[in-house]
Amino acid sequence: MAKIQSIRGMNDLLPKDSLVWQYLENTVHNVLNQYCYREIRFPILDHTELFKRSIGEVTDIVEKEMYTFDDRNGESITLRPEGTASCVRATLQNGMLDNQQVQRLWYAGPMFRYERPQKGRLRQFHQIGVENFGVATVDADAEIIMITARLWKQLGLSQYVKLQLNSIGSFQSRVNYREALVSYLRDYFDELDADSQRRLETNPLRILDSKNSETQRILAQAPSLAEYLDEESRDDFTQLQTLLNTAGIEFELNHNLVRGLDYYNKTVFEWVTDHLGAQGTVCAGGRYDGLVEQLGGRPVAAVGFAMGIERLCLLLQDTGSVPSELSDAADIFFVVAGDMAQLASVSISEMLRNEFPNMRIMKHCGGGKFKKQLKKANESGATIALIVGDDEAAQQQVNVKWLREDKEQEVIAVDKLNDLLSQYF
Ligand code: ATP
Ligand code: MG
Repeated sequence: MAKIQSIRGMNDLLPKDSLVWQYLENTVHNVLNQYCYREIRFPILDHTELFKRSIGEVTDIVEKEMYTFDDRNGESITLRPEGTASCVRATLQNGMLDNQQVQRLWYAGPMFRYERPQKGRLRQFHQIGVENFGVATVDADAEIIMITARLWKQLGLSQYVKLQLNSIGSFQSRVNYREALVSYLRDYFDELDADSQRRLETNPLRILDSKNSETQRILAQAPSLAEYLDEESRDDFTQLQTLLNTAGIEFELNHNLVRGLDYYNKTVFEWVTDHLGAQGTVCAGGRYDGLVEQLGGRPVAAVGFAMGIERLCLLLQDTGSVPSELSDAADIFFVVAGDMAQLASVSISEMLRNEFPNMRIMKHCGGGKFKKQLKKANESGATIALIVGDDEAAQQQVNVKWLREDKEQEVIAVDKLNDLLSQYF
């Protein structure tokens, strides 16, 4: 019978890689904790309407990337393609924005987009998202960016990523700019790539994002969004740059940075690397002051970002930035032969787990020859083999064999084991 395979673009995370994921996630959690952000979890499914209304009907995500289907009762539901919409829905629904509170939130988990799978681009991928609700001033934008910068520092990635920064202004300034851009691009319509031709009517700002070199050449002479910014956005943007300079965070201004979701205004940013090929954006975000109201709440200012876990893990691995001490190998590997030894090793291993909560202890199960077990212990990468035979068991002793160091094997009393091991663990 044919084997059943996973769905295209949906990967399994194997134990050999999960260690890197855990390292990344733990580091992120610690940094977020430093800034007093708290975790929120929401379902993987939400009503399709939520994503249409927030991300925007004519974005790539809503037009062609969502996993949408009818529930058994005919309701249209969607596997979340990103977290911000659901996060806003959840905070609103649970009254967390009713009294002008400030909410500092983060979430992590799988997102689903029907895209062409390739390196760094999957159909089920994972994000950690961070959202700050209730602060209209740019110190919140700066805080959000400082979190990311600190994170790269903690992960040893600072030298591989660059911050690109832009302001896309208020809704009105974008309407004005849109007119100017469309009128400029109309003259070059035939030279634009097909996607950009289509977007000229539906979502012309996205053309700025085009990867097509001919389109980019035409854009070089196009009116710039920077010239159309409203005064408040311009002031905020200047102040944000001052704050980032004060925090020692380097950035590049990129006036063509627009982001693919409709809800952004003012600050937008991306952290990009050139170590991952075409999929170089590892983290992206910005301000979205209109979204809460758009989803039925009162006007609440908001700013946030999401980072792609797969891309960051690739970056950690491809740049050799995974700490070498990261390991899930056993510290202690019990090698056991004989009936009495079985009993003794069970009680000794449980005693050690009581005494050393962080110690990884593997007890060989399933019997077999000493020699074979010892070989397994060695191959497992364990630090120490504790060898227990019936003789040792009868005398309340264990045989300590150091597997990674050139040290004498020694037989010691079980009640001396804690003292010995506490020197090392
Ligand atoms: P891209 O331009 O690469 O398509 P995006 O603008 O669609 O990214 P966002 O929606 O801003 O991405 O998501 C934030 C981050 O999530 C991205 O910067 C990226 O790291 C990651 N990401 C987005 N889509 C995917 C995907 N299909 N597979 C893996 N990671 C992804
Ligand atoms: Mg995309």
